[in-house]
Amino acid sequence: MQIFVSGLSYRRDPGAADRQYDIPSLAADEIMNWMEELRALVGATGVVDQAQDMAPYLTDWRGRFTGRAAAVVQPATTLQTSQVVQLCASRGVPVVVQGGNTGLVGGATPDATGQALVLCTRRLNRVRRIDTANDTMTVEAGCLLQHVQEAALAQHRLFPLSLASQGSCTIGGNLATNAGGTQVLRYGNARELTLGLEVVLASGAVWDGLRGLRKDNSGYDLKQLFIGSEGTLGVITAATVKLFALPRTRLVCLLALPDLTMAIGLLQRARDAAGPALTAFELMSGLCVRLVGRTLGQQRPPFALEFPWLVLLEWSDHEDEASASRQCESLCAAAIEAGEALDAVISRSLSDCAALWQLRESIPEAQARTGGNVKHDISLPLGSMDRFVTETEQALHALCPELQVLVFGHLGDGNLHFNVGTREGSPVSMAFQREEQINDIVYAGVGRYGGSISAEHGLGQLRRTLAQRVKQPLELEMMRGIKRALDPQGLLNPGKVI
Ligand SMILES: Cc1cc2nc3c(=O)[nH]c(=O)nc-3n(C[C@H](O)[C@H](O)[C@H](O)COP(=O)(O)OP(=O)(O)OC[C@H]3O[C@@H](n4cnc5c(N)ncnc54)[C@H](O)[C@@H]3O)c2cc1C
Repeated sequence: MQIFVSGLSYRRDPGAADRQYDIPSLAADEIMNWMEELRALVGATGVVDQAQDMAPYLTDWRGRFTGRAAAVVQPATTLQTSQVVQLCASRGVPVVVQGGNTGLVGGATPDATGQALVLCTRRLNRVRRIDTANDTMTVEAGCLLQHVQEAALAQHRLFPLSLASQGSCTIGGNLATNAGGTQVLRYGNARELTLGLEVVLASGAVWDGLRGLRKDNSGYDLKQLFIGSEGTLGVITAATVKLFALPRTRLVCLLALPDLTMAIGLLQRARDAAGPALTAFELMSGLCVRLVGRTLGQQRPPFALEFPWLVLLEWSDHEDEASASRQCESLCAAAIEAGEALDAVISRSLSDCAALWQLRESIPEAQARTGGNVKHDISLPLGSMDRFVTETEQALHALCPELQVLVFGHLGDGNLHFNVGTREGSPVSMAFQREEQINDIVYAGVGRYGGSISAEHGLGQLRRTLAQRVKQPLELEMMRGIKRALDPQGLLNPGKVI
């Protein structure tokens, strides 16, 4: 294995989009010394430097990006993390932070130079404190999201961040990507759930910002810089997050819709009827649901007919179940009466809720089984959703009639996953070969309607160049200024975001 580390000089041109390295290769004894230094800091089990053991850390979840690294290091404490980052800073070694490696934009995958250290947070996995009086919990960055939810539940509290990847993604990764998920409508995204952070800065210094305050106007809100920064400004080692009361009642409705315009009317109706009880409002095209049935077998829509669109709506509140059911039934009846919905089912048990959610959450896996597709994670003003989808689909079919659009997403947040594959029987390569043209069509529509090229997945390396094309020059300049201030050597996650 060839490792490039010590004596490395890093040339940074603050204005340039791409970075260049001038990296001398190391002699074998220097490599040994470097690995020994890392082992001395984090213990023998905390350093992975054999090619076959490093492999899972070097390819992203979708298998779209593969990089190389000098080693993967897994600190178990904030102090160890700080010492590792300090060592890297002193030697000019880039650091790529990785949590659960479930990100969808290649943000946690190192580049091909093999010079970076992958800093994996999964051993930073303690729940430090649950403060029921303050309704907060302090957890380390490598805790799996599901474990954070379970720890809150054990104290009869709710931590509402909820993603299909929650069994594998980490809370640090969630914060670094400002993850959204299925309950944003009611509780907000990761940013809104966070009160404090502990961060190892690019120099190795530890910023203890673990405050559990709901009001703090004592200067710039520094934690906001790190939330959504995708490992480019600091290593999040712990966070203090908000907890909530557990709802008494949870109902899930699945409604079949004749067209997408009706979904917007239905959303307004549901907001008025449910108020804060409206917890999720998820859109799925009939194609997505049929794909789940076809590829994963067990999941079928609970309707006799096949409909063009479906909406999954979650209602959770503090009223008793009978009252919530009554309100939910009258919402569905009114929607059917108004022609917004054609049919509806309402869960009668928690296992019904889980089964209906599984239908929605199986869509990414079903798509992966068919060979994947060209993905877009966009947000748009709600009023333009329908026109965007129709016009963009038409333009894509004009490009290639075999293309097929699979649309699903968090409609209540204006967020669509707008994925372009091919019709059954046509190879998906037909879509990937046209990726650039497809992207041009989709993002032209996003621009026309004032949307965003990344609603919740971030930029990583997948959308970095695109962001430089579509963001305002002044925004990019401010971002570069922040990057320079917090990471003057440009060692944190180079080649990502900015
Ligand atoms: C099936 C599936 C469903 C998904 N659904 C959603 C969804 O509904 N909503 C959504 O928003 N995302 C979703 N995602 C994307 C992904 O799960 C989230 O982005 C998640 O927050 C990433 O967490 P992670 O621990 O896996 O981070 P990683 O993939 O390891 O890293 C992601 C980015 O964060 C940085 N990073 C990780 N940990 C830290 C840290 N401690 N400090 C600083 N930087 C760090 C990395 O450098 C990288 O840039 C989904 C992914 C899958 C596979």
